[in-house]
Amino acid sequence: MSGLKILRGSAGFDDFAKIVRLTPVEKTTRAALLQRSFMPFQVPESYARTIASLPEPSRTQMLNIVLPPEGERFFTGRFDPYGNKLCRQEDHAFLQHKYENTLLFHVDDFCIGNCQFCFKVNEIRTEITSNLDLNRKMRITLEYLTTNPGINNVLATGGDPVAFRNTRDLIKLIDPLISHPNIRVVRLATKGLAYAPERFEDGELLQYLKEVNRRPGKQITVIAQMNHPAEFTESAKSAIRALQEAGVQIRGQPAIVKGVNDSVETLIELQRAFVDNQIVSYYLTVFMPVKGVEQYGLPLDCIFRNVAESKRHLSGLEKKGILLASHDFGKLEICGFYPSPERPEKIILKWHQIEMEPYLPKSLKDRVPTRPEDLMILDYRKGEMYCIDHVFKANKLPYFDSAGNLVEPEPEGHISGNTQNMQPERTIRQYLNALESGSYRTMIQLFSSDAIVHSPLYGDVNANEYYSGLFNDTTSSKISFLNIFTSQNPSRAAGHFRYDWTLKNGGKISFQCVDVFQFDETGKIKDLTIIYDTAPIRSSFQEMKQRD
Ligand code: SF4
Repeated sequence: MSGLKILRGSAGFDDFAKIVRLTPVEKTTRAALLQRSFMPFQVPESYARTIASLPEPSRTQMLNIVLPPEGERFFTGRFDPYGNKLCRQEDHAFLQHKYENTLLFHVDDFCIGNCQFCFKVNEIRTEITSNLDLNRKMRITLEYLTTNPGINNVLATGGDPVAFRNTRDLIKLIDPLISHPNIRVVRLATKGLAYAPERFEDGELLQYLKEVNRRPGKQITVIAQMNHPAEFTESAKSAIRALQEAGVQIRGQPAIVKGVNDSVETLIELQRAFVDNQIVSYYLTVFMPVKGVEQYGLPLDCIFRNVAESKRHLSGLEKKGILLASHDFGKLEICGFYPSPERPEKIILKWHQIEMEPYLPKSLKDRVPTRPEDLMILDYRKGEMYCIDHVFKANKLPYFDSAGNLVEPEPEGHISGNTQNMQPERTIRQYLNALESGSYRTMIQLFSSDAIVHSPLYGDVNANEYYSGLFNDTTSSKISFLNIFTSQNPSRAAGHFRYDWTLKNGGKISFQCVDVFQFDETGKIKDLTIIYDTAPIRSSFQEMKQRD
């Protein structure tokens, strides 16, 4: 965008420090914290000038958006704490179909300014999907919408798909999506209203938005990332009004972050600012456990108490934002604590959204209700749980560790045996547990991305395809472990087991099986040959397939 100056890199940080008048101690401290963060420094100069104009505590709170604050780290975070990568479509990394009705279209990997607490830090830092030609992305996206008619809305996200793109290109992005017969709503996720509000005051863009929003059953909506009341500058308010006059509904979805907006006073002001600017307060989202900036985290009971206290001072209209904790498995509303938020022993969670099959671990479905609107009442330890992973781990539910690995509780009657600490043996045991529990996600993590499975029933197929087909054909599996055979060559081993397989049509098949594994240099399975006598089971299997 012409006229927009972005401060980035060490020279940009020096300029920023001058504009916001960091003291020498502040500058040294913040520079050291930036080194530990994985998010590069990047701030529009106009945003720096807004910060410089503010009194305390707003100045420090706004600084904390673009520079990591000091603070103790009580846990180790991870990359991708919302499961963006795991839920991507295999061939099209920029598409995510995590929730039934919604397609997330990851348009760009860059932002106009970088928020240090952003859960997409690794994508913004390392991804290259935005280098793909937009026309090609659009073609693939439209084909996906046509072949998945259950999708009725698209969330265009990034990075920031709006702030940098010129109007012609933005219209080229939006129009085919909103014109698709299945699509009712296109959501544009942006922090541009805070970082570069003047971008939205563009006659051609506003005229286009007005025209679309007059089409029956069609709507463009803006999901605004406004984290602090001081971001509602005169320019931001003017851009918000211009969008609203073009019929655009704007929704506020701030992350609640320690040192930025977690105080009761700031939460009150922020929620009031939404209503004053006719923005629908939508979600208040808990900081996710982002690697490198864990000091932004707050215990869930603490956030709940502050949000609840803020709502005690707000009218019904102002307190509509739902307090949500987002996780790979979905979005969970934090409904309350028992016996009280001050003495929390149980946390009451409600599934707001839940990810689709085949992503959801079976061990989660087996242990807790998993439909949207279902409640869970789980054990909680005051002041110790900063995210859903901590709650699920304490309750022996599947969770992700700080390396991003899914950790599943052992299923009832789990496979036992002589466990030696050898990688092939451990992987084979994990493989058999995943086969028994039917967990697609755990299974796929054991394989390299190009792994091949040679099956006497399904043929030679990619592991993703094989296990999604196998688990789809399966009601339940029982594995009785017999032997593991290792070889002098550590990249080869075999597992011998009895498989009691209940097909999805209720047919039951039992057989002994030997799986021969070949591992790559990282210990992932790259080739699997499955050996068993198919003669006794072919007729049941074919009968099931014919009914499909
Ligand atoms: S603008 Fe949005 S995507 Fe970009 S860094 Fe901030 S929160 Fe993350």
